[in-house]
This record gives sequence, structure tokens and C-alpha cells, in this order.
Amino acid sequence: MIKTCKHCEMDFNLNSRHKKLVGGYINECPDCVEDRGGDQSPPKYLGVTAGNGKMCDVTILKFDDHKSRAAFKKAWRNNSGQNLGKECQLGEHISSTAGLKFSIVSENRGNDNHKGKS
Ligand SMILES: [Zn+2]
Repeated sequence: MIKTCKHCEMDFNLNSRHKKLVGGYINECPDCVEDRGGDQSPPKYLGVTAGNGKMCDVTILKFDDHKSRAAFKKAWRNNSGQNLGKECQLGEHISSTAGLKFSIVSENRGNDNHKGKS
């Protein structure tokens, strides 16, 4: 996704490796984020969804740092099988999320009924 930086008005790719690495606000190019002393954005939130039932669980987690967030995301993707294409099954092994610094901000548990009835 191409965004225009609010500081230098240059277009940048929001999904680029560099931007993801550097972080910062959605409307700041990675160069400006770095120029300003790194990520000034609010806490690192990560929303994750589960694939159970028709209504997904949505869990918003807050991390103390990018490293924990990235590690959790990786583990979640592995554990939930998100990156395994069409195969609806768990990853080959379950990654541990132990020791990561995060707290659950909000959780919206869907119902697990496949027919969508309560
Ligand atoms: Zn910029």
C-alpha cells in the first residue's frame, strides 16, 4: 500500500520491509521515522483472529516492545496455521509464546458454533 508521508510528502510503501522494521505511524515514511529518533507511535498493538466458527475470535494484545510483538505474531501464525495456505490445520509444531511481554487489551470471543447459531 502506497502512503504519502506527512513529514516529507514522499510516497512510500507501507508494506515494505524497511517500514515494518522501523515502525512509526502509518503516515510516516521510514526515513522520517528514523530521522525523528525511531518509532514514536503508541504501544505496539497486534490484533489476531482465530478461525473457529463463523465469527472469529479477535484478540488485541499490547506488547512492550517490537521484538515481543514480532515473536508473538510469528508464533501465532505458526500455531494457527495462518500461513499454510488452504490447509486448515495447525502448524507442524507449536511455537512457544512463553516469556513474551504482552497483555491482553481486549478479547472478543465468537461462538464456536459452525452454523452461526447461539
Ligand atoms: Zn517522510
